Amino acid sequence: MDPRIIPITDDLFFIQRGWLNGNHLVFTGKPRTLVDTAYIRDAAETESLIAQCGLAIEDVELIVNTHAHCDHIGGNAEFQRRSGCQVALHQVDRYFVDQRNDWATWWGYYQQDAAFFPTHHSLTDGEVLTLGQMNWLVLHTPGHGMGQIALYCMDTGWLVSADTVWDGDFGVLTTRIEGLDAPFRLRESLERLGRLRVQAIYPGHGAPLADGPAAIEACLARVAAFLEDPRRMGRDQVRKILLYTLMMRGPLHREGLWQLGSASPWFPETTELYFGGKLEATFRDNLDYLLEQGLVKDDGEGRLVCTLSA
Ligand SMILES: [Zn+2]
Ligand SMILES: [Zn+2]
Repeated sequence: MDPRIIPITDDLFFIQRGWLNGNHLVFTGKPRTLVDTAYIRDAAETESLIAQCGLAIEDVELIVNTHAHCDHIGGNAEFQRRSGCQVALHQVDRYFVDQRNDWATWWGYYQQDAAFFPTHHSLTDGEVLTLGQMNWLVLHTPGHGMGQIALYCMDTGWLVSADTVWDGDFGVLTTRIEGLDAPFRLRESLERLGRLRVQAIYPGHGAPLADGPAAIEACLARVAAFLEDPRRMGRDQVRKILLYTLMMRGPLHREGLWQLGSASPWFPETTELYFGGKLEATFRDNLDYLLEQGLVKDDGEGRLVCTLSA
């Protein structure tokens, strides 16, 4: 079995992907369920990993999306077509997907590839999703994404945190789309998760976290630092999206990355919002930081590549 597949029980599996692709949960009992479907380009790899858990795409009965960002819904259109399964997501994200609004989903804002897909069920806060013997509470956790949910297993204390809690970090805060109060809503979402009896966390990116409460505390500290100095939030956004752009479009010459950024909606706006509109300095300083940290390197032919796993 692929080492990225972590069996949780006999019929529940966690699959750890990278950063361009969000992680999955695969449930092979009734109903046969897939939580999140990664990035569209890597659908064949996603299918192979899910098959290794004992679930063929044609047999999927339910896709639950933690939110509608491109790294979590990429396989939806194809997998739904082949399986005829139901697709469930929070009512807010479902609304915007049904409206074909690729701004609310960020795909247009960040120049991402994604395909719209049919939806069947609106998840609401407080709803219970029953998978076999397990009861998962649906929690609306906005901040990073307006229609993002977490799933809390009331029987075991496991939390599927999506992009609200990673290891010491969380998904980028896109205030232009989510609103300038996005960090406040993220803080509320984290505080709410902190009041649950959380055991292990299965995040949207990265490895499972054994100490759930400590992970939530670390995220709360990070939000506090962002609120104290919003430019930290701006730097985080620029760096994460530059990395993401390189994962999607790389390898790219420095000039190519600059061209993509300056022609995008997100880069000029973010620079305006946090860095006085100084486009070239913002690009240079943050790219240099990523190179220093080894998150970006030269591929030997003068092109930039992201060193994180996709
Ligand atoms: Zn994600
Ligand atoms: Zn996300």
